[in-house]
Amino acid sequence: MNAALAEIATLEGTKFMKPIIGITSRDDYTGRIKINLVNHTYIDAVIEAGGIPLVLANLQDLDDIDGYIKTLDGIIFSGGEDISPLVYGENPIKEVKNISYRRDKFELELFNRAYGKGLPILGICRGIQLVNVALGGSLYQDIHQQIPQALGHVSTYRIEGGYHTIDIKRDSILFDIFKEKKIQVNSQHHQSVKDLGDNLRVSARAQDGVIEAIESSNDNFVLGVQFHPEAMVSEHKEFVCIFEYFINQCK
Ligand code: MN
Repeated sequence: MNAALAEIATLEGTKFMKPIIGITSRDDYTGRIKINLVNHTYIDAVIEAGGIPLVLANLQDLDDIDGYIKTLDGIIFSGGEDISPLVYGENPIKEVKNISYRRDKFELELFNRAYGKGLPILGICRGIQLVNVALGGSLYQDIHQQIPQALGHVSTYRIEGGYHTIDIKRDSILFDIFKEKKIQVNSQHHQSVKDLGDNLRVSARAQDGVIEAIESSNDNFVLGVQFHPEAMVSEHKEFVCIFEYFINQCK
């Protein structure tokens, strides 16, 4: 609990304050007006797991980010655009089309400040990639161009059900959560983690070797998943456990 909330909690006696969980959002320029979007499934999952969701704007005055850091107890880096490959020192291949400079700039700085303060972090889809890149890692810009043996990862059917299996390492946060070595997950990503960033380790891979989950190897709580647990909660209740475990770290 951060200082401001602790003060409120003290003022109100024994009243329990739920953790406030920031959720990053997508810049949408496709319509008549510019808007920030976040899938409602993230919001629902945070509420169901006992947190208070707060959707974050892609601030461009980076010093204002400290206002978010003071307010939040944990941050979910959500899905969305590809990260510009320039961030990890490459030019884009032709399959990389949908990027957002504004979001990259905001999220990288938000991650650095949150990580520096030890705030718990959950990265989902683009979020696992953001976490990895922010810590100095790189990405496969397009799985099917760059990994010859890759199986399917870009399901276009409904996202609520499992599409492929992942193998979870026994000594990992993800195993603590699911208590299983193999689970089915959805898959709607054309990129994945390549070289690992600093202080990260792999906690799950798909059968073809594609990295599907990473976690912190130091005292910071960082969990990244390449699948979308928030979208599976409605039909596979067990996926809310990822959010419960994360929010428990935010107290
Ligand atoms: Mn996948």
